[in-house]
Amino acid sequence: MKEGIHPKYVEATIKCACGSEVKTRSTKTEIHVEICSNCHPFFTGKQKLVDTAGRIEKFQRKYAKKQAAPEEAAAPQ
Ligand SMILES: [Zn+2]
Repeated sequence: MKEGIHPKYVEATIKCACGSEVKTRSTKTEIHVEICSNCHPFFTGKQKLVDTAGRIEKFQRKYAKKQAAPEEAAAPQ
């Protein structure tokens, strides 16, 4: 390999939001991911809401505000 042009290839730990860690090698020592094979619905076989950057909470807050407004027409639940 040519000197001085290659990044360091080191031991890396990939950390998922669900808490699972995977050891591998990379040019970075730590990699953070939001979803992995341990928690992705495709692998778990369970239906699960995958919340990206709090979008579900944002929607629920918005929806709660609408619910609190005077009821003119009963919204289907
Ligand atoms: Zn995970």
